[in-house]
Amino acid sequence: MDFSYSPKEEAFRQEVKDWLAIHMKELPKWWHNPDVVGPEIDSDEYHQFSLWWHKKLYDAGFVGIAWPKEYGGRGATVLEQAVYNEEMAKARAPGPANGLGIGWAGPTIMSYGTEEQKKRFLPRILSAEEHWCQGFSEPEAGSDLANVQTRAVEEGDHYVVNGQKVWTTGGHYSDWAILLVRTDPTAPKHRGLTYLLLDMHSPGVTVRPLRQITGHAEFNEVFLDNVRIPRSLQIGETNRGWHIAVGTLAFERSALATTVQRENTLKDLIAMAKKVDHAGMPLLNDPMVRQKLAQFYIDISVLKYTGLRALTGQLRGERPGPEVLIVNLLGTELNLRMQDFAMELQGPYSRLLRGSARAVENGAWQNSFLSARGTAIASGTLEIKRNVIAERGLGPPRSTR
Ligand SMILES: Cc1cc2nc3c(=O)[nH]c(=O)nc-3n(C[C@H](O)[C@H](O)[C@H](O)COP(=O)(O)OP(=O)(O)OC[C@H]3O[C@@H](n4cnc5c(N)ncnc54)[C@H](O)[C@@H]3O)c2cc1C
Repeated sequence: MDFSYSPKEEAFRQEVKDWLAIHMKELPKWWHNPDVVGPEIDSDEYHQFSLWWHKKLYDAGFVGIAWPKEYGGRGATVLEQAVYNEEMAKARAPGPANGLGIGWAGPTIMSYGTEEQKKRFLPRILSAEEHWCQGFSEPEAGSDLANVQTRAVEEGDHYVVNGQKVWTTGGHYSDWAILLVRTDPTAPKHRGLTYLLLDMHSPGVTVRPLRQITGHAEFNEVFLDNVRIPRSLQIGETNRGWHIAVGTLAFERSALATTVQRENTLKDLIAMAKKVDHAGMPLLNDPMVRQKLAQFYIDISVLKYTGLRALTGQLRGERPGPEVLIVNLLGTELNLRMQDFAMELQGPYSRLLRGSARAVENGAWQNSFLSARGTAIASGTLEIKRNVIAERGLGPPRSTR
């Protein structure tokens, strides 16, 4: 492993830092400040804030850093993208809007779409002019995604689509969706699926919000009733959608950014342990608390070096090993443990949510504690990630599902 960055990457790091030094000051007072009440994350006001910040990042050339210039990206390297993600996470800066578009829909279109599709969609994904969501999961197709039942029937130059999607994050303000549908119900389940792009404003699309344990409504049920999708919006070949969907899910989040996020959580835990008293002493003086915090530090170091191993392999052009998924799995589990510990530190006050007069840090920890549960399911549950790591890393016989 090579731990050093080239002068070009260090110069880019400085550019990102300089930009952040100026623009972080423009963020509203409520950003990362529990003492000031900000808009709820599922509100229109928050969405507008997110678009406002996105435009700043976009104008500075910080959206789609490793995307080719011809599609509106910066044309920089994967390493520069990693440096950028790391600096943004360190500064606790908001990310870009349209995360699913930039993270999943865009790379899929870039890898499997036609030239016409790339030119039509990619620049507007980066500018967030068009917002995207992911219509994969269904009531009977989550971990067993190949069981998708939403049916698409060819009718001339269109598909007619009927069915239901669920847990569609951001579906209520999205313009487009990546959609997995069944086109051949007689074929084995992995072989009868096709990958389409759905205009969410099409007649027959109904979006109904679902409320989460946090009280926010960030995801939805999406009902499709005789929705017509032009065949020109198909990605790849008919009945080959499974292989493309697996490709979409492989565009994982940056392993290094995950590490920095955990480092930030540890810093916050230490700050809280200094503030919260037990029997007249700050909790940080308690040896059990200190031991727990030290263990988190050790776990974060393991994450960091596994992330660097993944990045090194990627730079050498090696086939992705299980490292990125391991960082994802360990990082998610570590976050669950850290959030649990935050509740332990707060003792009886851990029951108090935002708005309660005596809530610690105005209930910010309660929100992150509850959200952590969803993150442990969202891009595949912990059990499924373990299965994939075992299959990729150890090579046992595949699950027969
Ligand atoms: C916050 C959040 C955002 C999401 N956003 C989206 C989105 O935008 N678009 C979208 O399409 N989907 C989205 N999802 C859905 C997500 O992909 C699914 O919830 C996830 O894949 C699990 O599927 P499921 O909920 O149907 O659970 P199930 O698949 O029914 O799993 C139930 C339990 O059984 C276990 N299990 C299942 N199969 C196995 C197995 N083979 N081996 C061991 N254990 C197993 C699981 O680990 C889990 O504990 C989101 C979910 C969350 C929580």
